Amino acid sequence: MTVVTRSAQLFPLKPCIRLNAVRLVSLLVSAFLLSGCAGALWSDPVARQLNLFTQERLLLTADYARHHYGGDGYELREPRMIVLHYTAFPTLDESVRFFSSPFLDTEFRRDISAGGAVNVSAHYLVDRDGTVYQTAGENVICRHTIGFNHLALGIENVGRGAEQLTEEQAEADAALILRILRRHPSIRFLIGHDEYRDSRRPHYKLFREDDSTYGPTHKIDPGKTFMARVRSILAKRYGILLED
Ligand SMILES: [Zn+2]
Repeated sequence: MTVVTRSAQLFPLKPCIRLNAVRLVSLLVSAFLLSGCAGALWSDPVARQLNLFTQERLLLTADYARHHYGGDGYELREPRMIVLHYTAFPTLDESVRFFSSPFLDTEFRRDISAGGAVNVSAHYLVDRDGTVYQTAGENVICRHTIGFNHLALGIENVGRGAEQLTEEQAEADAALILRILRRHPSIRFLIGHDEYRDSRRPHYKLFREDDSTYGPTHKIDPGKTFMARVRSILAKRYGILLED
């Protein structure tokens, strides 16, 4: 609205043309929201933007959400939890290359290929030096944790295994979680991917999987040590205690 008023002052228009200008802005905003650009909304101010979600990937995501969660689109409307992971790749470049394709590598990920065509992904990718990259808008469903993708934001940490994860990543994850919580007070749970199948933990009540033939897989990322370190930073430095 400010832009329109300003344009009207700079370029005095006849009322009918000004109305058309207002309609044009409105149409552009609508088109933006309906297009793949919606994936770039809810961006983190600190993260470097590396949006991997094309229009094609959003449509594949909508298919996935419909099949597994009865969803009506690719949107993640009200996140309830955050899941931490590691990529199982030793470098940022290899991790980005793996996540870039909209389609799942059905040979490499044969274990989950029956679950749908869309590639796995997360909202954030944290390099070993603590640099944070945002690879999807926080309002988009990413495929990273079976049974929880419809309500979980995912953070991937670059690393071949738990032994490669760094203190910088634990610090960056905790600071990122703090910023995410400010944007989404609906979030109550923080888990590691290796904790997602534990039905004794409070987060498990959120589990939903409509395809009875598609079962959760065994996960070991990011591991107990890393989760303990992130939880410790959150509690001691920021006074944040999330349920698991
Ligand atoms: Zn994982």
